[in-house]
Amino acid sequence: MGPENNASGMIFTLATLVSGDGGYPEGGSLGMANRMAKRFAVLGGTIHYGKKVSKVPVQNGTASGVLVDGEEIPADAVIITQDTRVAIDELFDPPLREPWAKKMRARVKPLLATFIGVGVEADLSALPESLTFVTDEPLRCGGLSISTITINNYASYKGYAPAGCTAITSGIIGDSYDFWKACREKGTYEAEKQKLAEAFLRILAEKLPQTAGKIAVCDIATPLTYERYLHSYKGSWMSIMEKGSRMETYPSKPESIKNVYFAGQRLFIPGGLPVAAETGRKAVQYLCRDTGTVFQGKI
Ligand SMILES: Cc1cc2nc3c(=O)[nH]c(=O)nc-3n(C[C@H](O)[C@H](O)[C@H](O)COP(=O)(O)OP(=O)(O)OC[C@H]3O[C@@H](n4cnc5c(N)ncnc54)[C@H](O)[C@@H]3O)c2cc1C
Repeated sequence: MGPENNASGMIFTLATLVSGDGGYPEGGSLGMANRMAKRFAVLGGTIHYGKKVSKVPVQNGTASGVLVDGEEIPADAVIITQDTRVAIDELFDPPLREPWAKKMRARVKPLLATFIGVGVEADLSALPESLTFVTDEPLRCGGLSISTITINNYASYKGYAPAGCTAITSGIIGDSYDFWKACREKGTYEAEKQKLAEAFLRILAEKLPQTAGKIAVCDIATPLTYERYLHSYKGSWMSIMEKGSRMETYPSKPESIKNVYFAGQRLFIPGGLPVAAETGRKAVQYLCRDTGTVFQGKI
């Protein structure tokens, strides 16, 4: 879990897996997202990809729709799934000032990572799915110095790499946002990513000689990449639940604006996919209650 996090997160995760109440979705996050999108379409929904909502216009205390490319798309209700920590500041004019929003601004500690994805032209299925090793020299990543590296080995997962090849990933956890942001401003961003890729692949070749000279692709996502794709706070995708802290929760709808609902990982600390799914369901339950509609969880 990393030294900043409350250890109970690990116990919950292990208990969920052991009890059979959770697991790894087939096809990973992409497989899961595609299945949800397909189901939404089957139920009659339409998704407009590649569109950024810049504001949620509010008239007389009621949200009237969303603003996209300067044009207002009217809506009976708006469910905001952008990171709530960012939405409260950027999607409303003026920003939300309710007590819970002030608490969220003060208390949220973002969990970030630099993510390394590698394609190896070798079959690593004889190795375990998860490997952790201590490096001889620390890996320098985003201003952090790391001496323990964990890799995920997807050799036995169908469709992750061509036959005989293996996809490997590794997440370097830590707040490297300011480092990468400074690199982007100085024009050294790509060079620093390249340096990190070379250092990581050197360690990989030392620890797993099967990978030496067999690298087909190495791709690095920094917190800036996540920020660009997700518009989340510092590119984070969960929150740190510190030692001794409680599981903070935030409301599904604001008090001062009607027709607006929130969903997503930031509403229950520390977040993650189950929280994102659960808060989505809860937002719709509130919408149903507000509109006198019977909530149907399954059809
Ligand atoms: C490497 C990695 C490993 C992880 N491992 C796990 C794990 O093992 N278990 C787990 O539970 N969680 C894990 N997570 C965390 C989990 O993926 C996230 O917490 C979860 O995806 C958050 O879902 P969300 O719907 O709240 O937000 P997001 O997935 O960020 O979805 C928000 C969506 O809204 C879009 N959006 C944002 N702003 C706008 C806007 N203004 N206009 C239009 N669209 C917008 C974004 O593009 C995005 O598609 C991991 C994350 C990473 C990066």
